[in-house]
Amino acid sequence: MAVMQKSSVIEDVIAMVQEKDAGQPEFHQAVREVLTTLKPMVDKHPEYVKAKIYERVVIPDRVIMFRVPWVDDNGEVQVNRGFRVQFNNAIGPYKGGLRLHPSVNLGIIKFLGFEQVFKNSLTTLPMGGGKGGSDFNPKGKSDNEVMRFCYAFMEELYRHIGPYTDVPAGDIGVGGREIGYLFGYYKKIVNRNDSVLTGKGLEYGGSLIRPEATGYGAVYFAAEMLATRGQEIKGKVAAVSASGNVAQYTVEKVNQLGGKVITLSDSDGTIVDEAGVDNDKLAYVLELKNIRRGRISEYAEKYKDVAYYKGKNVWDVIREQSLKVDLAFPSAHENEIEGNQAWGLVQNGCYCVSEGANMPSTLDAIRVYQENNVLYGPAKAANAGGVATSGLEMSQNHMRLSWSREEVDERLHGIMRSIHKSCLDASAAYGSPGDYLMGANIAGFIKVANAMLAYGIV
Ligand code: NAP
Repeated sequence: MAVMQKSSVIEDVIAMVQEKDAGQPEFHQAVREVLTTLKPMVDKHPEYVKAKIYERVVIPDRVIMFRVPWVDDNGEVQVNRGFRVQFNNAIGPYKGGLRLHPSVNLGIIKFLGFEQVFKNSLTTLPMGGGKGGSDFNPKGKSDNEVMRFCYAFMEELYRHIGPYTDVPAGDIGVGGREIGYLFGYYKKIVNRNDSVLTGKGLEYGGSLIRPEATGYGAVYFAAEMLATRGQEIKGKVAAVSASGNVAQYTVEKVNQLGGKVITLSDSDGTIVDEAGVDNDKLAYVLELKNIRRGRISEYAEKYKDVAYYKGKNVWDVIREQSLKVDLAFPSAHENEIEGNQAWGLVQNGCYCVSEGANMPSTLDAIRVYQENNVLYGPAKAANAGGVATSGLEMSQNHMRLSWSREEVDERLHGIMRSIHKSCLDASAAYGSPGDYLMGANIAGFIKVANAMLAYGIV
């Protein structure tokens, strides 16, 4: 009887979340994905059940929601919703990005914050998990409008963050420009130059390699997975989705390691360049996306023999055009690969998926990878290089030192290797060798759970 109760703990917690956190489908999905893979732990660790760690870990420490009023270039008042979810600080200050996108709501920020807890734990660095953002859409806004929004957002956020409390960073819609505005305003109102945001400019406390880190890390993780089958990136054909920060530096690292990327996209469509997005073309993409803030369709106008598929995402194009790829790096947004698109990948030869975006594969897509022996690097492991390098930025700020490019890259590479090993070790210890999803969730969870146990009931 006792055993039956124990093994139903996970399903009971999932049911509780579905009932109490109604209307948050992305959060439900993330909780189900993590907790389901933790089932083999339940009987091995009765102490977690007794202390109700599973019930506690799905409830954020704190949810902050606020209004963000600002004035647009026409003098009209605009108002957005602001969020910061401080999910769990058992192993360090809350750490996680800020997302600016019209789709942002509480459920999305909670899913991202929940995943961040375990991702940050995997990095080996002392960072808790949090996430924030707003439904503000930076697309089509002037620099002045983005600045006024960022100031208004920080006007409330500043009282909840601090170098030992909560250290936000970038995410979708938050790059160097936005971090500059946010940090500038924070510094002005608190009158302290704290290490309170990461992703800062090099002139004011940023770290070399931070912009590159998430993309580089996803490729390092893929290289580690390939090595388990005696393979390498060199000579491989890769599909990358999106054309933002993560996508850009994924392309750069694939190129450095001798692979070839043949796709990029944005929310309007996908380009296929069978010759490959080489370094010159990548420089064009960086200028197009980061400075001119243009659309990826312009790439197809500039370069010969490039196809543009309006309104299609990369994964549909691969399926519909039977495009052969070895590797896939989803780098756009949650649930971009559904079950049938994952099938399309498998049927067209893909055997390695390394997730740069957060939760880009639905539970159906993950099942397709697992049933077809695809090397599957889940987001919380594969894209942890970004937050790990944010952790390195914090270390440099606290020491008042700056490491060289090579030093940061070497540390990032070492962290990605160590995450890969932790995933493999944990998956083997709990009976599913090679299951990176289970390994990442278990390895990330154990450290947080043990810290929570150590504190007693708080
Ligand atoms: P970004 O620089 O703002 O770029 C986002 C890219 O994704 C753009 O190309 C954008 O196209 C596309 N995109 C976003 N939402 C979309 C939608 N609903 N439909 C179609 N395309 C969409 O953001 P990023 O920092 O690269 O982040 C990309 C992913 O990586 C996110 O899942 C993020 O959470 C994850 N991530 C980022 C970091 C980091 O360090 N930046 C770290 C870990 C994980 P449009 O321009 O057309 O919108």
